[in-house]
Amino acid sequence: MHRPLENAIENGVEVMTGAAFLDFILQDHKICGVRTNRGDFGCRWAINSAGVNSDEVMHKAGVRPEFKINTRRGEYYILDRSEIEMGNILFPVPTGVSKGILVFWQHPREMCWLDPNSQEAPDKEDKAVTSQGFI
Ligand SMILES: Cc1cc2nc3c(=O)[nH]c(=O)nc-3n(C[C@H](O)[C@H](O)[C@H](O)COP(=O)(O)OP(=O)(O)OC[C@H]3O[C@@H](n4cnc5c(N)ncnc54)[C@H](O)[C@@H]3O)c2cc1C
Repeated sequence: MHRPLENAIENGVEVMTGAAFLDFILQDHKICGVRTNRGDFGCRWAINSAGVNSDEVMHKAGVRPEFKINTRRGEYYILDRSEIEMGNILFPVPTGVSKGILVFWQHPREMCWLDPNSQEAPDKEDKAVTSQGFI
């Protein structure tokens, strides 16, 4: 299977891994480059695709400082085959804050997954498993 990244590389895109975005380089209030921990790079266009950090990247360009991404953490609950066996995926009704909790049986691991819940997690790096998640 041909993935988009492989396709981009074949078409001359140079990928730099482990490069953390630090700031934009501005000239006459326009972005003309990006500063990373691996050096500065000039550009005509900059695409912000930093996922949950894209609000912070956007703020570095001076755009919408009031906009904030409120992150949520999803926990998975896994049962083994001695506890439950099922044939069909149970699709949930979405809630106001999540797609709801899906129940499905995974082959070949033979485990039943219930996931994800949706907990408020103001710290974007918070990957904790919580006791509330069991409820
Ligand atoms: C457990 C889990 C299961 C999911 N399952 C599904 C699913 O089944 N179907 C579905 O449609 N979606 C699913 N999602 C959601 C999906 O993964 C996200 O919506 C999608 O990955 C978001 O893509 P993105 O490119 O915006 O951000 P991301 O995929 O998060 O990519 C952002 C990238 O930016 C990088 N980055 C961030 N900050 C910086 C910085 N300062 N400098 C440099 N790089 C930076 C990050 O390292 C990352 O590589 C799931 C998510 C999770 C967590």
